Amino acid sequence: MTTTALTHLTQLVTNDPSLGEGPLGLIQDAAVVIDGDRIAWVGPSSKTPATDNAVDAGGRSALPGFVDSHSHLVFGGDRTQEFNARMSGRAYEAGGIRTTVAATRAATDEQLSANVAHYLAEALRQGTTTFETKSGYGLTVEDEARALRIAGEHTDEVTYLGAHIVSPDYADDPAGYVDLVTGPMLDACAPHARWIDVFCEKGAFDGDQARAILTAGKRRGLLPRIHANQLSYGPGVQLGVELDAASADHCTHLTDADVDALANSATVATLLPGAEFSTRATWPDARRLLDAGATVALSTDCNPGSSFTSSMPFCIALAVRDMRMTPDEAVWAATAGGARALRRDDVGRIAPGARADLTLLDAPSHVHLAYRPGVPLVSGVWRKGVRVA
Ligand SMILES: [Zn+2]
Repeated sequence: MTTTALTHLTQLVTNDPSLGEGPLGLIQDAAVVIDGDRIAWVGPSSKTPATDNAVDAGGRSALPGFVDSHSHLVFGGDRTQEFNARMSGRAYEAGGIRTTVAATRAATDEQLSANVAHYLAEALRQGTTTFETKSGYGLTVEDEARALRIAGEHTDEVTYLGAHIVSPDYADDPAGYVDLVTGPMLDACAPHARWIDVFCEKGAFDGDQARAILTAGKRRGLLPRIHANQLSYGPGVQLGVELDAASADHCTHLTDADVDALANSATVATLLPGAEFSTRATWPDARRLLDAGATVALSTDCNPGSSFTSSMPFCIALAVRDMRMTPDEAVWAATAGGARALRRDDVGRIAPGARADLTLLDAPSHVHLAYRPGVPLVSGVWRKGVRVA
């Protein structure tokens, strides 16, 4: 196998406190050696071992590739008009997720797959090397299974979200729709997914329905995660913790008991500031979660309705500016935090044995991700040891 060294990194974020300073395991004037698809060595640039190739990264810094643990990329159409109406202060009626469901059902497999590839390539150029994505815009047995098959062509982190909203076909029979999601739809979807998710919210699925859905998924070997407490207070977070969900996502409206439950569990609180930004909603209180000891991840929630960004650097900047995270906390949450939210230990860190996923910044430190918002600082991306951007 070929070895490659990246040398003279002004600063390297390893996310391994045994390798460097602080929780980010920072190393100044660092080097990284990649062997095949793995990290082989990390340390001071002056001690770099001999390698087949070398890249002089002088003046630039590096961090683990971003781990985006929450996106909805299998969709057709877009919702420009809805966004424009919302931002123009006009009431927007009807539509929402249903608009995307209709467009997704009408799209061909090739169109949906090309769309996923397009947005994943966009994310990759911005430093994201691991991405989760969900179904949830098909809402029939065939369309949900199709979405998961297509997602699986592009990523290993595939989530069955038949319980995104009650299908419009079951508007008068939500219980019938839960039976479908936990029965024939689950049978068709389980072979194509690693995770099961549910939108636990007023107007979507209540606590009892969400429990039935996640429990049925667990019985089929799927791992639970949950859209929880986004638009209102509710049972989602507590249910996620009770069912050992890898992650409770959104966490915008939390009681003290919700915060305590997260802090005393292995369930990650995944915050999605692109959604609050794009809907002018109240920010989740990251500071409160961190101070209580909860594990926090950041993710894009990339979807055509409520958060149409694929940019983890943008989410980091929002988290620092508006959710009172420190730059170090936000960078950890977008890398190691995302890995925890996917129960992965091979990504989200730069240490010997980890997957060689690395983002190079045209900036002297990771702090610039928040300090220079909107600036395309990512100047190189390695995924599984291969330079892809
Ligand atoms: Zn979502």
